[in-house]
Amino acid sequence: MSEVYNWQLGRKMAYPHEEAHPRWQFAFVFNINRCIACQTCTMACKSTWTFSRGQETMWWNNVETKPYGGYPHNWDSKLLGMLEKRNSGGQVWKTGQKGPEKPYGEFKGKTIFEAADTHLAPEGSQRAVGYIPSEQEWTAPNIHEETASGKIRQRQNWKDSVQLPEHRVWFFYLQRICNHCTYPACLAACPRNAIYKRPEDGIVLIDQERCRGYRKCVEACPYKKPMYNSATRASEKCIGCYPRVEGKDSALSPNGEPLETRCMSACVGKIRLQGLVEKEEDGTWTKASDSPLYFLIREREIALPLYPQFGTEPNGYYIPPRWAPRSYLHQMFGPGVEKALEQYCCPDRELLAVLQLFRASQEILFTYKILKGPKIGEVEATLPSGEKKTQELFNDTVLGFNKFGHEVVRVTIEEPTFERPGKHVNSI
Ligand code: SF4
Ligand code: SF4
Repeated sequence: MSEVYNWQLGRKMAYPHEEAHPRWQFAFVFNINRCIACQTCTMACKSTWTFSRGQETMWWNNVETKPYGGYPHNWDSKLLGMLEKRNSGGQVWKTGQKGPEKPYGEFKGKTIFEAADTHLAPEGSQRAVGYIPSEQEWTAPNIHEETASGKIRQRQNWKDSVQLPEHRVWFFYLQRICNHCTYPACLAACPRNAIYKRPEDGIVLIDQERCRGYRKCVEACPYKKPMYNSATRASEKCIGCYPRVEGKDSALSPNGEPLETRCMSACVGKIRLQGLVEKEEDGTWTKASDSPLYFLIREREIALPLYPQFGTEPNGYYIPPRWAPRSYLHQMFGPGVEKALEQYCCPDRELLAVLQLFRASQEILFTYKILKGPKIGEVEATLPSGEKKTQELFNDTVLGFNKFGHEVVRVTIEEPTFERPGKHVNSI
């Protein structure tokens, strides 16, 4: 085992390979608050990549309903249980010391790699604690859809159950693709060295020629994103739509402009923003306050990693749902939840402007700029403490620029409306 630095844990951790980092890293932000579970993202992925024989149960993108749903079933609660069993009562965060290299404090528990040291599976030692889901667990990808937790106490007072800051009766949708982790468990576990992380964009791929279908990646990935193809007898996973990220779609990016993936581009709820973040040789993120992803993830810390305690340093980040119980959100996104929600519930001018860039263009936005506009109104916001606050609204305009510095999008806070002249006669 080597020692690598995991900034999401705020400490060094054990990992089976030497530390190495790509120049740019594929990353994304999903705003859970806006998802309507239409599954357009899921179908955009399925119809592009996984429509063949052997891929029937493969959903590289899936949207599940929390707290009961999951694909494969119970993937997260099962792994949390396995880690808790190996380090009973020790899976905790120390939130006292924070800083740029430990923004969420320090995780004092054991990651999936560290907990594996003492763990012997029936077939021998494991590089990461994990399991292979059963066939049954790979059925019904949206099981328990919209099943809420909690009870309405009195029928006539049902509204009390859905008051902010926290609903007593709640569920939310969780959108999931491969996180193209900084320290991938799939890569660490592969005995054939068939999995690699691309130095140009950090996308994690399985070499279909080298793979022999041992399914060690399926077992080790805590997010259960590698999937076994029974027709080709090899494992497959989300490929981050790399031809689009490379700017190789001749119809949409004739000059080589990097594009967002299919699932991102198709998102109806405008919850998704994907891009590439620049990294230094030692893995630290190059400071770039005018990059939308850097601003949301590193500067404002409003978007948080999914289960950072697993230790793979996932590159998918989520704006947590403001109505869900905090203890559940802490377990899922770590100790940064309060800070994220504090800002999301009453965003300032800059944050509100950057949030307009979600799904505004198919091209990856590398930088943004804000043009200030006049005040257009005030709204009342409920803060996570329950306190009410008046939020001032300004009609600012946000501009988004592609890799080559060309403006590709311009959005205002106030949505423009257009009225058709009343001459049109509707027909059936
Ligand atoms: S999410 Fe799973 S499959 Fe994707 S890179 Fe991380 S460990 Fe590998
Ligand atoms: S397309 Fe967007 S809104 Fe619809 S389910 Fe997917 S993430 Fe949610």
